[in-house]
Amino acid sequence: MRWRWLWALAGLVGGWAFLGWHPPRVTVAAGRPLVVLDPGHGGIDPGAVGAGGVLEKTVNWEVTVAAARVLGRRGVAVVLTRQGDTTAAPGPYLVVRDLRYRAFLARHRGATLLVSIHSNAEPSGRAVGPIVYYYAPSLASRALADALTAPLTAVTGIYHAPRPARHLVLVEAGVPAVTVELGFLTAAADRARLTSPTWQARLGAAVAQGILRYLAERGG
Ligand SMILES: [Zn+2]
Repeated sequence: MRWRWLWALAGLVGGWAFLGWHPPRVTVAAGRPLVVLDPGHGGIDPGAVGAGGVLEKTVNWEVTVAAARVLGRRGVAVVLTRQGDTTAAPGPYLVVRDLRYRAFLARHRGATLLVSIHSNAEPSGRAVGPIVYYYAPSLASRALADALTAPLTAVTGIYHAPRPARHLVLVEAGVPAVTVELGFLTAAADRARLTSPTWQARLGAAVAQGILRYLAERGG
């Protein structure tokens, strides 16, 4: 995904337009963490499209739900930025507006952290493996990226160091936030994993494990 132009456009689109919008409540006990999971794309925005018509939005959703289940079993409160195969923001769809809403949700709720879940694509078809992107000015974002990279490396056997990025959702979240690119839909080996229910569950469990590791490290 090319995010730079989205970031540049962000200032032109009303980021405060959601202030009158109150998303559904999730009760969180005082002092307990609240995790916002953001399955990338959705609805009329499919994200990347892999060979055979594999849609990124579907992979992202399945892995997010798997991660949410694991966190839920561990007693961690989770909010998803979309509730199914839809875009995230209420009202008419605009890509920047939809991204800003995802960040708004984390900020508005005072979330402990946000993890945006995506699947990658690139033209050569050679790149493989998960990559976690963090927002460089935030040390907590970097720590979260490190915590997520370890279990994703363990489960896939492929290591990429976390990379800094200025993804709009990360910039605007106002809480520790990272983007997880689960793998490359353009590489056959990754695509086979990303579309397998067994692997989707494994990747979701790895994301949850990374989040739990981060929460444990920060004492929550
Ligand atoms: Zn994406």
